Amino acid sequence: MRFLDKTVLVTGGAKGIGKAISIGFARSGAFVVIMDIDVEAGNRLVSQIISDGGRASFIHGDVSSEDDVFRVVTGTVEISGSIDVLINNAGIGWTGTLLERSTDDWRKVIEVNLTGPYLMAKYSSPYLATSKGSNIINIVSTRALMSERNSEPYSASKGGLLALTHSLAITLGPKVRVNAICPGWIDITDSQSDKPSKQSDVAHNQHPVGRVGRPEDVADACLFLSSDEASFITGANLIVDGGMTRKMIYLE
Ligand code: NAD
Repeated sequence: MRFLDKTVLVTGGAKGIGKAISIGFARSGAFVVIMDIDVEAGNRLVSQIISDGGRASFIHGDVSSEDDVFRVVTGTVEISGSIDVLINNAGIGWTGTLLERSTDDWRKVIEVNLTGPYLMAKYSSPYLATSKGSNIINIVSTRALMSERNSEPYSASKGGLLALTHSLAITLGPKVRVNAICPGWIDITDSQSDKPSKQSDVAHNQHPVGRVGRPEDVADACLFLSSDEASFITGANLIVDGGMTRKMIYLE
């Protein structure tokens, strides 16, 4: 219950990694505000959190819309009186090749994955600054550090988000800490269910820790970075990838 007096705003908090983050903070006592474009999933998760004894609210909004961001941030403060932790989790992926996708497709990824967190930080920062121990966590990706083929806008958006993290840490300190988490492969198909992971043994065993990641691995990292135990950590990047970015791969 160490977040009992805190309000945590989670973007893209209705599904996948964001859902685990919302549940993790709610179980730690926080009042969780979920911002998402998926109204049905958002309302369903709020009902689940409340029936589990937690506190949560859903506000529909698209992080790439400045009007939506303003409305969600002010709406959160109206409901709860503060914003103590902002988790910039909403993000979209990318499929297709360099030559076949349009420039508008590129812009869409940059707007959601990079402009979105910038807008959320900008409009939340006056409220975060008045709250003790407040912080922002940007959910980046190990794609900010390494690539597969044809991942240009996704990797570029996440690389930008990593740089935005240290820039905000300097601008908003000492009142607000700002950190990044770079997840590796996180299996979101079994999120919050008891079903065994459908990933193959090869997928699990290639990881130095012996398994693919779970959404709860990222949620636990968020709980740590938001806590007072992390009060000397800002501008940092916590890699949560089972060791994959440390593994050298050559033919044996
Ligand atoms: P997901 O698609 O399961 O969940 C994303 C959530 O964000 C959904 O609830 C979706 O409705 C919401 N969303 C999408 N666009 C939005 C917008 N414009 N405004 C508000 N909400 C929006 O994805 P996920 O795998 O849980 O990914 C969450 C974050 O973690 C993303 O930023 C992603 O880039 C990052 N990430 C994921 C992995 C992975 O392996 N799953 C690895 C590294 C990084």
